[in-house]
Amino acid sequence: MDFLPVFLDVKGRPCLVVGGGEVAARKVSLLLKAGAKVTVVAPDLAEGMKELCDRITHAPRAFAEEDLSGCDLVITATDDMVLNARVAELARARPIPVNVVDRPDRCSFIMPSIIDRSPVVAAVSTGGASPVLARLIRTRLESLIPPAYGRLATLVEGFRQKVKERLKSPMARRLFWERVLDGPIAEMVLAGRDKAARNALAAALDDEPSRLNSLGEVYLVGAGPGDPDLLTLRALRLMQQADVVIYDRLVSGAVLELTRRDAEHIYAGKERDMHSMQQDDINQQLVRLAKEGKRVMRLKGGDPFIFGRGGEEIDTLAREGIPFQVVPGITAALGCAAYSGIPLTHRDFAHSCVFVTGHLKDGTVNLDWQLLARPQQTVVIYMGLIGLPIICRELIKHGLPGYTPAALVQQGTTQQQRIFKGTLKSLPGIVKREKARAPTLTIIGEVVKLHEKLEWFESH
Ligand code: SAH
Repeated sequence: MDFLPVFLDVKGRPCLVVGGGEVAARKVSLLLKAGAKVTVVAPDLAEGMKELCDRITHAPRAFAEEDLSGCDLVITATDDMVLNARVAELARARPIPVNVVDRPDRCSFIMPSIIDRSPVVAAVSTGGASPVLARLIRTRLESLIPPAYGRLATLVEGFRQKVKERLKSPMARRLFWERVLDGPIAEMVLAGRDKAARNALAAALDDEPSRLNSLGEVYLVGAGPGDPDLLTLRALRLMQQADVVIYDRLVSGAVLELTRRDAEHIYAGKERDMHSMQQDDINQQLVRLAKEGKRVMRLKGGDPFIFGRGGEEIDTLAREGIPFQVVPGITAALGCAAYSGIPLTHRDFAHSCVFVTGHLKDGTVNLDWQLLARPQQTVVIYMGLIGLPIICRELIKHGLPGYTPAALVQQGTTQQQRIFKGTLKSLPGIVKREKARAPTLTIIGEVVKLHEKLEWFESH
């Protein structure tokens, strides 16, 4: 290890920055964030530095040795290599910690790439070997450390003393905190439910700390339309936590791959007309597993609140007092539209967009045809493959021209995506001839014309 990582307390401490350019300005910003009292010595200031002017002391002249007196820390960031070297030498002789921008060999400390979730701060350094690599690693970590970790740390800080008083042995305290930080209480904070988290933490402490073990929860998560890259960061994080995953037929294998390997996987089916598990059974199972203390993920295709019965499932949980959270997903309409280059709205062609289900009930489709047959509107139909001939016929009957462009997207966003294009009149025949297979989504409206120009995704 070339450098010892430490975190310096510079609050209210005098720090010197030599140089007034943009690079120096970035360093000054960081020092200010940490509460330092910053003096900048530079004849001229760049724009970025001028913006910080009212928060620093500016000495508009060349560097002089006396500037170092009383300083806790020095950063030199001028274009003048000889000057930088001199500042470094003088500082090291005193000795004052010194950083020379872009010259790790002359530094007594280097500045890492930072992930700031104050009070949680993660710092990444390559020892000066490659700042670009350090930034790349930082970006990766950014997505792993949710912004709410700062709030989580603050919550924990507020309870530290109380926990110390209540749990005498360090071992018991460690176990307690592990359960808090890796369980439903932390999840509540990450989902923005800080008040609930504080109450749960207080209750667990007053009541019976081991009760934390038996606190299960349910995550109702949208898995998106297929491409695993379309998952939210939150969905991905919860996937790596859940003990049990109950998933639908529409959840792609590539998405399931990302769940914990040792989690229990339960298939809940939802084939057309042969539901492998009745909705009621699913609701009851969610409740039972959560009451056993499990972290249960209910993983649904697309978004759980768009034709996904998500509302019914959490209704049961709410009645039973089970903690739950809902994570949105990219719904099929958005995924299919994007991956087929068909914008759902467009200033010239469509000012509104409606999502409807074309599910057959007693052999027919029940929709408000009048509402759907409006001009300048895109109609997106979920579950409409079987009912497609009825849908197209009714839309024409209610006033849409037979030549209105229409497309059927099969297995949208996946490597198997296929697009069938036609008009209200021709699409049912094309779909039949080409033997389209579920899941498919139908998009009707002038915007479908744009596909030709905006197509970008290649399936294989
Ligand atoms: N909650 C889901 C929709 C469930 S209803 C969502 O938000 O997307 C099931 C219907 O979604 C299917 O019949 C089909 O119309 C549509 N669908 C889901 N995934 C799809 C995909 N990858 N390609 C095309 N249609 C899809």
